[in-house]
Amino acid sequence: MVMTRVHLPVYHPALPVPVTAPSDPLVDAFARRIRYLRVSVTDRCNYRCSYCMPEDLGDQIPFAPRSTLLTFEEIEQLVTVFARLGVRKIRLTGGEPTVRKGIVELVGRIRAVPGIDQVVMTTNGHLLDELAAPLAAAGLSAVNVSIDTLDPERFRMLTSRGDLDRVKAGIDAAVAAGMRVKTNAVALRGVNDGELLALCQYAWDHGAVPRFIEHMPMSEGQLYATEAELSSAQIRAALEGVLGRLVASERPGQDPGPARHWRTADGREVGIISAMTDHFCDDCNRLRLTATGALHACLGHDDAISLRDVLRAGGSEDDVVRAIAAAVTGKRAGHVFERTGAGAPGTHMISIGG
Ligand code: SAM
Repeated sequence: MVMTRVHLPVYHPALPVPVTAPSDPLVDAFARRIRYLRVSVTDRCNYRCSYCMPEDLGDQIPFAPRSTLLTFEEIEQLVTVFARLGVRKIRLTGGEPTVRKGIVELVGRIRAVPGIDQVVMTTNGHLLDELAAPLAAAGLSAVNVSIDTLDPERFRMLTSRGDLDRVKAGIDAAVAAGMRVKTNAVALRGVNDGELLALCQYAWDHGAVPRFIEHMPMSEGQLYATEAELSSAQIRAALEGVLGRLVASERPGQDPGPARHWRTADGREVGIISAMTDHFCDDCNRLRLTATGALHACLGHDDAISLRDVLRAGGSEDDVVRAIAAAVTGKRAGHVFERTGAGAPGTHMISIGG
């Protein structure tokens, strides 16, 4: 089957459709306030993770032509509008954000936008050894580094092109550069379920916070396997079996993120992102801008509004604000992922940036 990158509006009858237009462009019809924008800077990735974009699927999907990507000027322009509306935090993602040429310059430009007080990144870490210091100097304050296994052979199999030693060196470099570091592992039964404690220990040894993510069905559910599901409750139970009771960790003053944090009796922290079995859509405070300028209000739906088209048609700042407000107004109550893989969007994780 040939996959395409179209974004088709979908409607799921189980979802309430918002009817009121909020007066604040960043408050949706369910009274959720958007505080945080994820910006995908490329749809290309130097890895081919089996659960995200394996070689055979990657081969079928044409990368977005360069002319369709947002330029740095356009990204800066859009971030400026979001900042004026109240967004304070930008997460750069991809594809793999570090493969976008000029990424250090882009970080500096976004960090300099008035109102933006945090620029952070989600990365596979492959290029971080070289880039961590310049990225930190440009204003990147934190990285989430994907590391699903500590077994080099398994890492190579899972990522197809990955190199565990490089990722580890990247984590070391990020820590040395003074950035806050979290590790991300997609939890998969039969793949890394025997390594939950080791992954935590590795992160803790580096002053990082380990996080586990439940696998979500994207790409029309093609890569989702029910039998590989490892639920947040199972992850927690497995960790409690060796670490003792985990207590919910309060993070006063912090915006709710997707991870629920847990603490061991001696204060070590672990995050679990229960996207499937105990989702957090009610607290969702984010929007996602793809590398081609499509603004998605929900990871789990294909609906998107092209901010790039507004800019390239000569739209004013008011036009951009209206387009953002339309996306926010249309933000769904939540995703409709099912644990069979049904309810998945056609969008690929590599396009929308996780
Ligand atoms: N290339 C970067 C990286 O590897 O972190 C950023 C993009 S990647 C799409 C962002 C995160 O999404 C990674 O932590 C990755 O493991 C996770 N991810 C990818 N596909 C996923 C899926 N189907 N379900 C849950 N997490 C997924």
